[in-house]
Amino acid sequence: MSMDMDLFETRDCPLCGGRETEVAHRLRETLRYRNVDESLEYKVVRCPVCGLLYVNPRLREEVLAAVYADDLYANWATRPGHVPEVNLRYDIYHHNLDERLAAYRHFCSRLAVHKVAGSAFEVGAGFGYLLKTLREHGFTVSGVELSHYAAGFARERFDLNVRQGNFLAGDFGEEAHDLVVLWHVFEHLHRPNRTLAKCARMLRPGGTMMITVPFHETFTVEKINPVEHLYYFSKEHVARFMEKHMLCETWVDGGFVFARKTGEEA
Ligand SMILES: [Zn+2]
Repeated sequence: MSMDMDLFETRDCPLCGGRETEVAHRLRETLRYRNVDESLEYKVVRCPVCGLLYVNPRLREEVLAAVYADDLYANWATRPGHVPEVNLRYDIYHHNLDERLAAYRHFCSRLAVHKVAGSAFEVGAGFGYLLKTLREHGFTVSGVELSHYAAGFARERFDLNVRQGNFLAGDFGEEAHDLVVLWHVFEHLHRPNRTLAKCARMLRPGGTMMITVPFHETFTVEKINPVEHLYYFSKEHVARFMEKHMLCETWVDGGFVFARKTGEEA
C-alpha cells in the first residue's frame, strides 16, 4: 500500500558507503504502527563492495522510536483481543533469565581473562541484568536505556545508574570508562557510526569495547525481525565497523567481538 512507503527510507551501505545493492533475502513481518497493522515485505540486501547484509529500505528512525515507545506498548497491552507483542517480549526476557544470567557470567569470566576491569557502561541496558552482573564482578556500572519501563525497572529493582533516553543525545563522560558494551543492540541502530564514534570517545585510552549481536554464524536470516533488526552481521563486519572508529586491535572470543581503543585519531 502506498501509505507504507512514507514509513520507509533507503540508504547507502553504512560500513563502506557503497551505493549498489543486491537483494539477498526477502522477509515478511507484521508492522503495528498507528493505523498500520499488516504484514509487509522487507529486503535484506548485500553490499557488493564490503559484503555487509542490511535491511534496505528500512523503517524510519522516528517510526521505530514510536514502535519502541512505552505508550504504544501500553496500548497494545490494553487493546482487547490484541497480542501485546512487546510486553510479551519483555516477559520472555524475564522468562529466560537463568540462561541470560549464565551468558552474562560467562561474559564476565572472559573479561577477567582479558584483564578488563573498572568502569563499565552499557548502551541499551534494558532491565539492567547485565549491569547488575558486572557490578557483582567488581565493575562500577552505569548505562542508558530508551524504554522508560525498562530503565525504571533497572533503577528501582537493582538500584542501578541507568538513565532513560537516547544515547546519542546524552552526555556520559569523555574517556571515562574502561568498558563499553552493546549487547544485542548494534543490530537495531539507525546510526551505527555515530554510536561507535561516541562509544570510542567515552572510553579511556586502552579501554575495551564489546559488541554481541545475532551473528550469521549462528542465526539464520529467517530468525531476524527486519522491523527492528537492521543488519545481519558476521563477526568480521562488526570488527570492521569498530576499526573505523579507533577501536582497533579487534578480537573474537566465542560470541563476543572485542576491540581496544588505541588512542590514535583515525
Ligand atoms: Zn559496503
